[in-house]
Parts: sequence; C-alpha cells; structure tokens
Amino acid sequence: MPEVTAEHLKHFEKQCIYWREKFGLRDWRLYVRQRDSFDGEAHAWADIKIDDLIAKIYIAKEWFEPITEESLNSTALHEILHVVLRPLVSLITDDCEQIEHAIIHRLCHAMLGVA
Ligand SMILES: [Zn+2]
Repeated sequence: MPEVTAEHLKHFEKQCIYWREKFGLRDWRLYVRQRDSFDGEAHAWADIKIDDLIAKIYIAKEWFEPITEESLNSTALHEILHVVLRPLVSLITDDCEQIEHAIIHRLCHAMLGVA
C-alpha cells in the first residue's frame, strides 16, 4: 500500500492552507497531522469544532490508491469543504453524511475535475 511520506504531508498541508485561504476561513485554526487510518478506508478526515473555529485534519499513513499531487490536492479540498459545510451540517439532526459527501464530490468535480 502506498505510504504517505514527509513530502506528501507537506504538500497536503500546503493545499489545506491554500483552500482555507480560498474559502476565506482565516479565522479558523487549522492543524494538519498524520495518523493511522481510523476506519481503514478514509485517506483523510476532519475533526471540526465549530464553536472554537478549530479544524484538525488528519491524513492516513497508508492509502489504498496511488498518492499523487492531484490526489493530495483533491483530498485537501474535500476536507476543507467539510469545514465550509459544517455550520450547515451541524444544524441538521438527521444523518446527512451521505448527502454531505455527495455535495462535496460534486464541488470537487466542478473545481478540479475529480471526485
Ligand atoms: Zn469526507
């Protein structure tokens, strides 16, 4: 399985910061860390505290797909879109994770040409 190198991590963090700036999330504190995959599937995930404006974005040490600049970029955009949508998503009581992901995939596709 492809492993995330220090260089990958640096690139991923740069992309997260890039998308944070693009979406005007400068008031958010952003932390990017590497972790063992928590569910064996996700390449990255976000721990978001909207009251404190803190987003911790974790990238898995191992991926199930090749790690490229493009995949790191789209994964960073995906996680930042979770931060963008979280104030709305947090108001919805029903489980809307699937719908949230469908919207994120649509936005990533529109912005980068990838899901
Ligand atoms: Zn997601």
